[in-house]
Amino acid sequence: MYPQSFEYITPRTLKDAVKFLKEHEGESKILAGGQSLIPILKMRFASFGYIVDIGGLQDLSYIKRDGDNIRIGALVRTGEVEDSQEIRMNNILLAEAASQVADSQVRNMGTIGGNCVHGDPGNDLPSVMLALDATYRITGPDGSRDVRASSFYKDSYSTDLGETEILTEIVVPVIQHGSGGAYVKHKRRSGDFSIAAVAAFVTINELGNCGTARIAVTSIGPINFRSRKAEDFLVGKKLSDQNISKAVDLMVDSVEPATDPYGSATFKKEVLRLVGLEALSKATDRALGV
Ligand SMILES: Cc1cc2nc3c(=O)[nH]c(=O)nc-3n(C[C@H](O)[C@H](O)[C@H](O)COP(=O)(O)OP(=O)(O)OC[C@H]3O[C@@H](n4cnc5c(N)ncnc54)[C@H](O)[C@@H]3O)c2cc1C
Repeated sequence: MYPQSFEYITPRTLKDAVKFLKEHEGESKILAGGQSLIPILKMRFASFGYIVDIGGLQDLSYIKRDGDNIRIGALVRTGEVEDSQEIRMNNILLAEAASQVADSQVRNMGTIGGNCVHGDPGNDLPSVMLALDATYRITGPDGSRDVRASSFYKDSYSTDLGETEILTEIVVPVIQHGSGGAYVKHKRRSGDFSIAAVAAFVTINELGNCGTARIAVTSIGPINFRSRKAEDFLVGKKLSDQNISKAVDLMVDSVEPATDPYGSATFKKEVLRLVGLEALSKATDRALGV
């Protein structure tokens, strides 16, 4: 199917883009890599008078080390995240998840920003951002503001992003010695969205116990979310197989996935258990350096 007709706008600067969105509030939509928006337009799930293609804003395409953080421009392609030496060396959780998004064609076009703001609970990178406690820099007509990923997701396809705002940058921490992260995803076929996936991040404290645990889930509810019950259980305890298993039980017992073509609720819970166990075990091994 062809999309309904629209006017195609190519702003030359971020300021021009924001100005246009403000002047045409309610009628315009940002286009980045197009890997989610184009299918929506073609299937006529939505239509807009103006499509504002920000792909030409080269200023939003960078990966920079900044002290203990890595700053990533919103237009960096998922494939560039996967291949970046800076990210592979200093944030394996993000590189690992990026490499599991869709297939190489989608990763070559889709952007990190689009993946994170689209609001699809099946998208992989929002869970990574929750586990990393990432910050989103958002620019709108009234200037810029920072929002933590943990307060960004409201409901399916509903986020804290206003209609006249643009995500410009994502800030993730460098994963330090004594910390570890992992992303484990189970899907039916290569290139698919997951049946369930888990992003896990843990730190080890001076007593050798869990200092911080952030465990985020993909594809199991209306939004990507953190399992606070599992996290609270782990903090202060040894990251033993037994405790990891108990934390995963708490996570699985607290969810109610829908039965749909991806599988029954029971099946999805079992998949969540397996990916949760693997992600937490892998993150722990990385934190311990084994
Ligand atoms: C076949 C296929 C398989 C896929 N499988 C997976 C998968 O396994 N895992 C996964 O995570 N994703 C998957 N995706 C989704 C893909 O990763 C998309 O690229 C991503 O969701 C959107 O990024 P984009 O740059 O293409 O955004 P676009 O499609 O251009 O935009 C998506 C939405 O985000 C908004 N937007 C984009 N950038 C910004 C910005 N900087 N500021 C404000 N709003 C913005 C747009 O207005 C739109 O609402 C798949 C897509 C396809 C087509």
